[in-house]
Amino acid sequence: MKDDIKRNLETIRERIDRAAAGREVTLVAVTKLHSVEEINDALACGVTDCGENKVQELLSKIDGVGATNWHLIGHLQTNKVKQIIGKVKLIHSVDSLHLAQEIDKRAGAAGIVQDVLIQVNAAGEEQKSGAPAEDVPQLLSQMLELKNIRVQGLMQIAPFAEDPEDVRAYFRQVKRLYDDLKTPDFRYLSMGMSHDFEIAIEEGANMVRIGTAIFGARDYGKE
Ligand SMILES: *Cc1c(COP(=O)(O)O)cnc(C)c1O
Repeated sequence: MKDDIKRNLETIRERIDRAAAGREVTLVAVTKLHSVEEINDALACGVTDCGENKVQELLSKIDGVGATNWHLIGHLQTNKVKQIIGKVKLIHSVDSLHLAQEIDKRAGAAGIVQDVLIQVNAAGEEQKSGAPAEDVPQLLSQMLELKNIRVQGLMQIAPFAEDPEDVRAYFRQVKRLYDDLKTPDFRYLSMGMSHDFEIAIEEGANMVRIGTAIFGARDYGKE
């Protein structure tokens, strides 16, 4: 297994470098439904950042996994915020003022400033979370009033397309939004997954979230 992970990571890093053409891109290894052993194998191969999409699963793994930057990349329910404050480097999935206020409150109580991204649903897909692109400017300005969170950029999950070229326009749209809204705290544009990360990077992503291409297919039967 470890050899597979190592080989996959080498290939992915080469592909990232080629698409990035000299720009720096942070790889977040998406570890949902993968074991603590597999995650530690990835860390041994140089992975520095790991992402989970569920609070419970993230918390269940933290103690067994070596030092890494944890990212919460999935939909976050307000009532779970207090469980992860102080445990994650970056929350990628803030899409409402209500959620931002709860993070701000819990971070304040813990005496920290929590770094977050605003998740944008540029394609307006109903089943997906994320704020509609047209709502993001106002949401950002409201979030900038909150003292215990720091908005470091935007995140997008593009629609699935057999040919990722078909969703290049959504990556470009969110990059344009990022450039328009950029504050001095902005540093991350989190876009791109296993099947579309090169297109996302070409369009300006500097943080990619990759699971399947590192660890192989997830076994959803284990959920
Ligand atoms: C699962 C997941 C990913 C990684 O998806 P792969 O296709 O396995 O690379 C990225 N981002 C989010 C938000 C996810 O939930």
